[in-house]
Amino acid sequence: MSAAQFDGVLPFDVPALGVFGRLARMRGVTAEALGHHRYPQPVERLLAELLALAAALSSRLKVVGTFTLQIRGDGPVRLMVADYAVPGRLRGYARFDAAAVARLADDLPMAQFGRGTLVYTLDQGPETERYQGVVPLEGKTLAECLDIYFRRSQQMDAMVRAAARRGEDGVWRAGALIVEREPRAPGDASEAGEPWREARALGGSVAAEELTADGLTSTELVWRLYGTHAPRLHETRALEFGCRCSEGRIRDALRGFPAEDLRAMAEADGRIGATCEFCGQGYRLDPAAVLAP
Ligand SMILES: [Zn+2]
Repeated sequence: MSAAQFDGVLPFDVPALGVFGRLARMRGVTAEALGHHRYPQPVERLLAELLALAAALSSRLKVVGTFTLQIRGDGPVRLMVADYAVPGRLRGYARFDAAAVARLADDLPMAQFGRGTLVYTLDQGPETERYQGVVPLEGKTLAECLDIYFRRSQQMDAMVRAAARRGEDGVWRAGALIVEREPRAPGDASEAGEPWREARALGGSVAAEELTADGLTSTELVWRLYGTHAPRLHETRALEFGCRCSEGRIRDALRGFPAEDLRAMAEADGRIGATCEFCGQGYRLDPAAVLAP
């Protein structure tokens, strides 16, 4: 079993069907991203899937930037964030009511969010306008929610699948597949025809067990789905866990507070304690340094 089958995004296209896609699969990334937290299993499952979806959807980023998927709901899980930064660094966290999470059945994952929205934000640096899309939480899974959104609101021919599975070693495997129809030439208003229907059916046939299987590489899985149509595989992009927190960023976040609030936040040693929600790194800041221009 090669480690390279996980923790990467495999881009591919299928010229015969006029589609391109990305298959993201991870194990080391989920182990580390979830390892910084102690979340109950239903929350871990959702966050693992959200991380895989962020990796698969982030491909529009070319050189710089970040891609964030954020869910806000009125259910037991109030907030969940998965965040991808070029060239392949992922991190995530959740805020939830543990007792309420435990009361819900494991086979209704989306009920953990209640009613809510999924926001995705594409930020390609200061020279490009930030793009934000808001998706109502619909469907029985996170992938279905995005699938419905792309079809309905974006009028995009795309299909999305995702799955997460906790192995016997306690580590989560997560996988996500997105397949899109090639953009049409300007002036071409043709409807997606039989090739797209076939591409969608083939991609949609992927099983959750295949997306998370230990004994199957991403290359093998794409061939299994599209092998009869000669798919072309491109270079795999590696994924890893990575946090971008720093004392400077925490200081910038605290700058929004009035001076007396900052002084009130200071603890016995005169410093303000702050913990990064993504990686758990603790910081102790001097209020005077925060206030300094
Ligand atoms: Zn951090």
